[in-house]
Amino acid sequence: MLTNLEDIYTFEKQHNHLLTPSFVTVSTDIINSRDDIINQLVDNINYINELNKQLKRILTSCNKAQLEDMKILDDVLRKTGKKISNVVNPDTVPKSPVVVVPTIINRPVIKQQVVYITSSLCINATIINDINEANDMGKVYYLSSMEHFIIRIENLLLHGNIGVIYTDEKIPEKIKDCKFAGKCTRGSSCDYYHDPFIYKNSKDKRNFIASSWLYNPSNYRTLNRRFGCIRNIDKDINNITKEEISRFKDQLTHDLLWGLLIQKVYSIGN
Ligand SMILES: [Zn+2]
Repeated sequence: MLTNLEDIYTFEKQHNHLLTPSFVTVSTDIINSRDDIINQLVDNINYINELNKQLKRILTSCNKAQLEDMKILDDVLRKTGKKISNVVNPDTVPKSPVVVVPTIINRPVIKQQVVYITSSLCINATIINDINEANDMGKVYYLSSMEHFIIRIENLLLHGNIGVIYTDEKIPEKIKDCKFAGKCTRGSSCDYYHDPFIYKNSKDKRNFIASSWLYNPSNYRTLNRRFGCIRNIDKDINNITKEEISRFKDQLTHDLLWGLLIQKVYSIGN
C-alpha cells in the first residue's frame, strides 16, 4: 500500500512510461501493465478513503467531547463570574479540525459576600448587622440578626426569604401574619408568621400556599390574589387589606430572590 507521499512519488517515477498514451507503439503488455497500476491506484484510493473516513469519525467524537466539556467549563466559569472565549457553538461543529484553546480572562476576583440558602445554593448579598446600613437602592442586603434579605426600591422596603410553598399540607405554617400584632408570646412555636419588624428577635420566615399566586378576584375567603389586574387597579387600590399588602410584599421578596438565584445560576440574557 502507498501510505506516504515518498512512496507515491517513487511509484509515479517507476510507472512514468505508463502515464502517457503510447499511440502507435501501443502493445498488449502496456495495456496489461497499465491495468495493474490502475487497480493498484484504485485499491490505494479506497484504502485512503477508508482511512479518511475512520479518522473523521474519531475526530468527530473528539470534537464533540471537547465541546461538551467546554460547555461545562464555560457554565462553571459563568457562575463564578469569569468568561471563557472561543467556545465553539456545538451546532456548528467545524468540518476541519479546529483546536479550541480556552482562554480565561484574568480579572480581579471581587470577594462578594454570599448567603447560602441551601447547602449548595447561595444569593449574593451584603451582610449587615443593622437595618440602617441598608441604604443603597436595589442592593441586596442580608440582616444577620433577623436572617432576612433586605432590598430597598424607592420607598419600598422589602424583606424576607425564599419560603416554603405549600401545595397539600393540612396545616401550613407561618403563611398568615400573627393576629396578635406584636403581643403574641408563643415566639417561633406560633403557627402564624411573626414579622421581625414587628416582633423583635423573631427570625421567622414567611411561607405561602400555592394558590396565593392565583389571581381570583371574586373569591374573598381564600388567600388567592384578589388584586393586581391593570383593568381594575383604580378601583381595587381602595379595597386591599393590610394582610394582603403584607403578603404581596413578601411574595414579591420571595419571587425577587428566586429571580436573582436563577440569574446567578443560569446567567440568563448575559
Ligand atoms: Zn403568634
